[in-house]
Amino acid sequence: MENTRRKPEWLKIKLPMGQLSVDVLNTIRGHHLNTICTSGRCPNQGECWGCGTATFMIGGNICTRACKFCNVTTGHPAPLDPQEPEHVARSIRLLGLKHAVITSVDRDDVEDLGASHWVKVIRAIRKENPDTTMEVLIPDFQGRTDLVQQVIDAGPEVISHNLETVRRLSDSVRSRATYEVSLKVIGQIAASQCVAKSGIMLGLGETREEILETMDDLRNVGCQVMTIGQYLQPTAKNTEVKEYIRPEVFEEYKEIGLRKGFTFVESGPLVRSSYHAERHIKK
Ligand code: SF4
Ligand code: SF4
Repeated sequence: MENTRRKPEWLKIKLPMGQLSVDVLNTIRGHHLNTICTSGRCPNQGECWGCGTATFMIGGNICTRACKFCNVTTGHPAPLDPQEPEHVARSIRLLGLKHAVITSVDRDDVEDLGASHWVKVIRAIRKENPDTTMEVLIPDFQGRTDLVQQVIDAGPEVISHNLETVRRLSDSVRSRATYEVSLKVIGQIAASQCVAKSGIMLGLGETREEILETMDDLRNVGCQVMTIGQYLQPTAKNTEVKEYIRPEVFEEYKEIGLRKGFTFVESGPLVRSSYHAERHIKK
């Protein structure tokens, strides 16, 4: 086990920004846009933007939940912005993105938990960017199949919903979400025309056996794409890192996952749920 007070060398890699990603950055600044890539200071920015991929957050920046690993502010969000669908769609066109990833805070405060807003965003993006493929990283919608189905019917290429961690640790780090409900949501996506994707973070105290069990659980509901990354404590208030997993162990999990039947497994210390997202669009 690595000393968790100091980040190991393999987490200090700084990826170069290519010309395309500099152009994207200039466009984002010029139009006052917001992406998870910049607000989350994601280490993969140079690589993702260089490939024409970026992640937008919709539904505001205040979440109704309070997961212990997450740095998003918890509280009472402002009403949903009716102009947001057009705003995001236009942003994607201005950035010339080939693949867009959209995520949101959880909106347990609105009657349909934000599902119809999601549908409007997906439709607006499709209308203004007919050649751009899309991944939507959705909340659990409290397990309501009718709401998940609305998003499926809007027709994004990939729908992801993160398990975040193994079964045993789920209740202690996630807020209101449960392992079983999330598996059910992923199973519903997998039964549709959309690619089903999910991700977990390592370093929260999970065991190897529990990670393999999680892979089996995901495969059993038909999940096709899995991401595995290192948890990094965003602030002193968040859950502490229990362990820094070595890159070769991540590599081993990737090989195991592929043998278990996943179409893609992105596994590495710096992998985030939208890393290499443009590769995962084929069912
Ligand atoms: Fe953005 Fe996701 Fe890439 Fe990070 S991994 S730069 S959040 S698209
Ligand atoms: Fe963060 Fe998502 Fe949990 Fe909200 S539901 S606190 S955005 S991880």
